[in-house]
Amino acid sequence: MTTLDRFAQHSLSDIAAKGRTRILKETDCGEGVFVVRQGKRLLSFSSNDYLGLSHHPQVIDAATEATRHYGAGSGASRFVTGNHPLYTQLETQLAGMKKTEAALVFGSGYLANIGTIPALVGKGDLILADKLIHACMLDGAALSGAKLLRFSHNNAEACAALLNKHRKSYRHCLILTEHVFSMDGDVAPIANLYALAQKHDAWLMTDDAHGFGILPTAPANIHMGTLSKAAGSYGGYVCASTAVIEFLRQKARSVIYSTALPPATLAAASAALKIMVQQPYLCTKALENARYFTTHLGLPEANSTIVPYILGAEDKALATAQQLQAQGFLVTAIRPPTVPAGTSRLRFTFSSQQDKSDIDKLVNVLKNILP
Ligand SMILES: *Cc1c(COP(=O)(O)O)cnc(C)c1O
Repeated sequence: MTTLDRFAQHSLSDIAAKGRTRILKETDCGEGVFVVRQGKRLLSFSSNDYLGLSHHPQVIDAATEATRHYGAGSGASRFVTGNHPLYTQLETQLAGMKKTEAALVFGSGYLANIGTIPALVGKGDLILADKLIHACMLDGAALSGAKLLRFSHNNAEACAALLNKHRKSYRHCLILTEHVFSMDGDVAPIANLYALAQKHDAWLMTDDAHGFGILPTAPANIHMGTLSKAAGSYGGYVCASTAVIEFLRQKARSVIYSTALPPATLAAASAALKIMVQQPYLCTKALENARYFTTHLGLPEANSTIVPYILGAEDKALATAQQLQAQGFLVTAIRPPTVPAGTSRLRFTFSSQQDKSDIDKLVNVLKNILP
């Protein structure tokens, strides 16, 4: 056994001893809102495909047609030969939807964050970040080399206090928040953060992975998001002014040094965005479903398509998810390090594809098994 293998095995034992081994479970998503796991058909309350667009016939047709016309892969980085005309169309759509001057599409949301943040700030600059922002914003912050300070979750006053105390000592300042928080489903005080950014000459960057297509756009200097959730496809984006987007095109290493997205992915995203604009009732239905659930389970009203139910202990969350699976529901248990210790939870997500009767069934089962 090499030292490398021994190192890997030791680390694995540590993870296992903490009960935190992550297991990839083969899941067939062939039927949209139903999935098949280990031969069992489960009604999913776990997908981020909030509008069901990953299975929409027009989206599938667009992807299929693009593959037939242009092939399966893009062949190179956008700066070499990968800058397919479908990119221009998609970026124009995104800028239109976000009401910004321009947009830049990245290989994924993760790549958008780890490319954009280090392009904008570095040594001598300050990043102020919400305590609960997504791992890939934190990775972008770490890559940047800028000073990182965190403010308590959704607390604009705490952010203001940090600005008052530290802003003067740094050249540029970037404020990072999610719009809709991925594991909590709550909404950031964006208007307040944007006002603070303006007052202190800071730049507000929002991660809209879970708000895009669901909630109206909120003000920001830099709007980041993904095409892999409500848009049902894949890829990340940043929307901002023409100057910022042109700058990112020159500087964001994750765009320059990574292969362009496959034509099918671009075509699917483009078709999905068209449907998002033309069929706003899909979004209304997804939000209505989340609110129907919170009302019937006696929880605070949902603000988004994500509803957490905090159980605390990790084993409790896992066991409850298992019980739900036995009853035919797919609901994910979320544990540390994805969420803070002691806040393990079930994370329910709602989509336009679920029916009220599906949610009734889920609520009835939950009423029997929740503490
Ligand atoms: C999913 C997610 C991302 C990453 O987007 P991908 O396109 O899946 O790489 C970034 N930020 C948040 C908040 C997310 O939930």
